[in-house]
Amino acid sequence: MLGAVNPPVFENSVFTFESAQELGEAIRNEDERYVYWRGTNPTVDLAQRKLAALERGERAKCFGSGMGAIAATISSLVSAGDHVLVLGAVYGPTTQFLRYLEKFGVTHTHVDDLAGCDSAIKASTRLLYFESPSYMAYAVVDIAGVTAWARERGLVTVMDNTWSTPLFQKPLTMGVDLVVHSLSKYIGGHSDLVGGVVTGPARLVRPLALTEYQLYGAAMSPHDAAKVIKGLRTLPVRMAAHQERGLAVAEFLEGHPAVRAVNHPGLPSHPGHAIAVRQMTGFSSLFSIELDTESREEVGLFLDKLRHFRIGVSWGGFESLVNAPALSTEESVRATMGIPVGLARLSVGLEPADSLIKDLGLALEGVGRLA
Ligand code: PLP
Repeated sequence: MLGAVNPPVFENSVFTFESAQELGEAIRNEDERYVYWRGTNPTVDLAQRKLAALERGERAKCFGSGMGAIAATISSLVSAGDHVLVLGAVYGPTTQFLRYLEKFGVTHTHVDDLAGCDSAIKASTRLLYFESPSYMAYAVVDIAGVTAWARERGLVTVMDNTWSTPLFQKPLTMGVDLVVHSLSKYIGGHSDLVGGVVTGPARLVRPLALTEYQLYGAAMSPHDAAKVIKGLRTLPVRMAAHQERGLAVAEFLEGHPAVRAVNHPGLPSHPGHAIAVRQMTGFSSLFSIELDTESREEVGLFLDKLRHFRIGVSWGGFESLVNAPALSTEESVRATMGIPVGLARLSVGLEPADSLIKDLGLALEGVGRLA
């Protein structure tokens, strides 16, 4: 329009009609017609179409946060009495949401692998939920293997693909039914928005767009949708740079005596590397390391010494970030989740890799002395 290089932002909460009959028809098809922004908006729609195309899905629905997308998606698929299988480690609030659903009679079981799924499946199991690479541990799940197992048993599969972005991994092409993302990470890419999306076949996305999206009210704003569209334009160049810097930093840390383990699926030493290269076309730059210490104090000193890595949650933006569950999670929760004391999560940003490596080298000096 007018030769504008960026699509216009439709700042309309409401859209009007020529007749009452037309309004009635629009309300009945509110996932496709513009009535009220809590349901649909043209700028949000454009972001949805771009995201669906990139993910190879028929339909996408954007939400006001990744958790909005996850909560609405799970809610749309289960009813009282249903059971959910959770494979591998998933984002903490996703587990909290599943616990919350217990008061409505929906139960869940966490399992580590397909053998665990075999023992935990029940007649009431309806959904299998997972992430790959997994949360904090960055373990790789064989997506095609898991979806084949689930399909044979009539289960719906939902996968959180935030780590890879739809650029580097396309779970729908490997049999996953619905894919969810936080758009707040690499897709937004500039730490200036919170958003989420679910993508998949219209038969699954349409009902949740008409019901849970409308009723939970976790709507995406057109302003955030415009940022998502801009983020998508630079996603390939940003992801290539994140991949390169992330691997350079991970390789440096892998050879460091103060580091016990580096959990990055792009490293050939990672146990899931062979599966990862089969099902992914690239690697993002979020991974964890295990410092050679059992002391929370020493983990804190390591974080405090870093200058380029800033201490904070979230990931996927320009700035490199560091976080450590031993300092940010309650001790009992950390221990139950089996997360080592020395675990630190790094989100490698877009600063030059040599500056980041130097920063880490200086902060690692002395780690292990309090052990
Ligand atoms: N999924 C993963 C893997 C995450 O790390 C996060 C947030 O950190 C979410 C989902 C939730 O996204 P949001 O913060 O946009 O609600």
